Amino acid sequence: MLRPPAEDHDTSTSTSTNTGSECGGNLEPLSATAYPWPMSTDSAASREVELLSTLVGIASVNPLQAGEVSGPGGEAELANWLADFTSDLGAEVCLDEAAPGRPNLYAEFSGSSDATIVVDVHLDTVGVEHMTDDPFDGRQENGRVFGRGAVDTKATFAVILALLERIKAGELALVPNLLLMGTVGEEAGGLIGAHHFGEWARAQQRHFDQIVVAEPTLCVPVHGHKGGVGMEITVRGQAAHSSKPHLGRNAIVAAARIIEAFEREHDRIVAGPAPTEVGTGTLSVNEISGGRARNIIPDECTLYAGRRVAPGEDPNAVYQHLSALATEAAAPLEVEINLPYGRVSSAFYQDPTSPLVTTLATLADATPGTATYGSNALAYGDLAGEIVVFGPGSIDQAHMAVEWIEVTELARATEIYKQWLACPVGPL
Ligand SMILES: [Zn+2]
Repeated sequence: MLRPPAEDHDTSTSTSTNTGSECGGNLEPLSATAYPWPMSTDSAASREVELLSTLVGIASVNPLQAGEVSGPGGEAELANWLADFTSDLGAEVCLDEAAPGRPNLYAEFSGSSDATIVVDVHLDTVGVEHMTDDPFDGRQENGRVFGRGAVDTKATFAVILALLERIKAGELALVPNLLLMGTVGEEAGGLIGAHHFGEWARAQQRHFDQIVVAEPTLCVPVHGHKGGVGMEITVRGQAAHSSKPHLGRNAIVAAARIIEAFEREHDRIVAGPAPTEVGTGTLSVNEISGGRARNIIPDECTLYAGRRVAPGEDPNAVYQHLSALATEAAAPLEVEINLPYGRVSSAFYQDPTSPLVTTLATLADATPGTATYGSNALAYGDLAGEIVVFGPGSIDQAHMAVEWIEVTELARATEIYKQWLACPVGPL
């Protein structure tokens, strides 16, 4: 790897490019030539590594994925730790329960400009029961930090907290106002923390200039991903002795007709034009259960179908259309259709030429991209002028039996955030 001398890197990035009023918070693209990547790493991110190890050690498994190894799960311990830590750094801190015992964290730091930037980092991790590695030891080994949440997505907390420490120490100055947010319930359960934050912000008529949703994107600014409609469909039939099927009404057979109809619908969707680089929608049936016993004609069958929604599609219209298809396919049996998360989500799409996307792309020397997965960005459409999904590390290491992040990625994200948000203090 190309490894420029650390002292050269420090001086070139923090003084020669970030000077006067043009330093951090400047939303115009900066010169890519000043930020050669990949960059020096071994010692550059030592504080970030230390913080990340600590954060990994505070288990915060989503309660829906908790098990014997994780214990009951939950985000509260991490939220409380972050509340204390950010309070000591000078933040105005609010813990806001999105569900009983599951608080979001809002830590607000004042900058020197009028702009307000939100960095949203989800507190929860996926489960650890399938891990073949110690989930919570947070060890550093071979240039990587290991453990659940190391890459998805506590790394961004480590990067931002280390930056805020340098600001508190007087080494750097924060330019925009910063709302560092920790949200519960991103990995499972319908983005309850993100939607709760939306309600909190709207109730106070808060509107933000920019929101960064932290996910492992290899520091590529992700400007779009699909939304979703998740449907639970229950077919009602009539039970009978299995030796006389004609006396019953078989709910599994009717559910099979729905599955076939949805397969045809999927083929129709993907054959159509993709309105943006995010691609077309998709439709799949992902769960099914039915049948009472081996000698009873099943009177009930429930399936779960997931429809990914492309930018420009109206998710409510999609829901109505799929409901009609399911009702028609199951007839003459009746269906009951529910939205298990209580809502549908439009896709997330930010113009790739917007200042937020181009600034981060320039700082990262990366081409803006789109994601196949979803994120909290689905909940924030009306809350900010610009939204992006961005963070260190690769999604390829997320949710795995062994999870890790390269220390190089921590260092890279540190430099990007520093140049974007902060300004050097002292004689230039
Ligand atoms: Zn994540």
